[in-house]
Amino acid sequence: MKKKTKIVATIGPASDSLEQITELMKAGVNVFRMNFSHNTHEYHSKVLGRIREAIENTGLITGILQDISGPKIRVGMLKDDFYLKQNDTIFFSKKEIEGSQISENKYQVSISENRILDQLSMKDAIYMCDGIIRAQVIEITDLGITVTVKNDGKLSSKKGVNFPNTRLGIDVITPKDAKDIVWGVKNNVDFMAISFVQSAKDIKTARAIVTKHGGKTQLFAKIEKFDAIENIDEILEASDGLMVARGDLGIEIPYYKVPATQKMLIHKANNKNKPVITATQMLLSMTTHETATRAEISDVANAVLDGTDAVMLSEESAVGHNPVLAVETMVNTIKATEENYPFHKFSQFDMNDADDNIDESAVRLSDSMNTNGIISMTASGGSAKKVARYRPSRSIYAVTHNQIAAQSLTIVWGIVPAFSVKEDTIGNMLADVMKEGHKRSLFKHEDKFILTAGDPVGTVGSTNLIRVVKGDEIGFFI
Ligand code: ATP
Ligand code: MG
Ligand code: MG
Repeated sequence: MKKKTKIVATIGPASDSLEQITELMKAGVNVFRMNFSHNTHEYHSKVLGRIREAIENTGLITGILQDISGPKIRVGMLKDDFYLKQNDTIFFSKKEIEGSQISENKYQVSISENRILDQLSMKDAIYMCDGIIRAQVIEITDLGITVTVKNDGKLSSKKGVNFPNTRLGIDVITPKDAKDIVWGVKNNVDFMAISFVQSAKDIKTARAIVTKHGGKTQLFAKIEKFDAIENIDEILEASDGLMVARGDLGIEIPYYKVPATQKMLIHKANNKNKPVITATQMLLSMTTHETATRAEISDVANAVLDGTDAVMLSEESAVGHNPVLAVETMVNTIKATEENYPFHKFSQFDMNDADDNIDESAVRLSDSMNTNGIISMTASGGSAKKVARYRPSRSIYAVTHNQIAAQSLTIVWGIVPAFSVKEDTIGNMLADVMKEGHKRSLFKHEDKFILTAGDPVGTVGSTNLIRVVKGDEIGFFI
């Protein structure tokens, strides 16, 4: 069986060649993430060109997610990586410097927003690399602050720095973000992930920039701030999807609350038919090792069982030693987990409108008739997402005449964003789908399907029809 949970992989120096991109797609990547915290527009344009070339060559429909960096504070460039030991000290300079080791136990760096250093007090905490390295302020002078390191760890250039006790008064959409968003619209990315969202207002600000430039990009809110949890309902309402961004989230809220928060966010997103990505540290040890830990494998499996639409790779595929192996590990874990998945009986959801009742019935019918799949005719992609929420055991073949809608379904659980057919009567569209599916070896003569659609075709959000397509009919169509 085809895996249903989708995979997002971050492209970086370890994976940005045409060969690697192609291999990653073949291994099972559904969406590539381009992280705009790193590198230039020129670099990202090159990478995007390669992804599009690989899509063209393989025919695998693959989405593109642009991660908008937001006001993340980072260390500057380092001459060499720091192999920090407990009790080493780091001087954070207010002046911009290249990071370096000064003596055996002493290091110096600067950060991207040095004015934040003025707000720190003695004993405040500073975390680096998604909280992997923890430090504490021990000295404050006019030139900067000194911290003592609490645990061993490696620090490299541009890694994130968090100040858990300090309120940062920085706008979520920075001037750089605005420029990056315009780049994304011009280059037709499918999704943008907005970092450090605090309220619906932040998503609306991003949306206004997208709309102003004529874009229709799907906006995902990265949930990684304490206040985002408080405002989750309005954020979800304003967004097209969520990312559970566990790296920064585990610093903003106590780390031991991350699993329960992940479950809460996934359920809320499922309930509103909005895709949700679970991100950060999923297979972290594969950045440097051949294998993942048992705990990491369990983490991927549990995110799948929580109902996530997609699981994501960050460092593992961006700078890891074997990005393809990390994807294969995810694929194997997803497939094995989906063998014991509570398909259809997945969860109780609110019935928001009549379409929800129809889609629920369609999924029940598909499972009880043991069909080969559900064909969802969908103008905007919305109807297919509604079907996906019930987690049917069979694939959902989304049929749309809208290329943007087809691309937007690459990230959604269980959907094969398969067909782009001309808008026509249902009968004619169905015939086209059957022919196409047969040609691509997805459908066979003896198959049966459940079709959901809105008749007449073309009105958004108007599913009013469930139809059974059976063997002899398929022969007729093809
Ligand atoms: P975020 O908070 O947005 O997740 P991050 O720094 O954690 O930012 P990830 O994409 O999660 O970034 O992790 C990838 C790591 O790979 C980065 O921390 C960075 O060290 C490294 N890297 C170097 N170049 C790139 C690149 N072009 N794209 C992505 N990551 C890169
Ligand atoms: Mg982050
Ligand atoms: Mg990260």
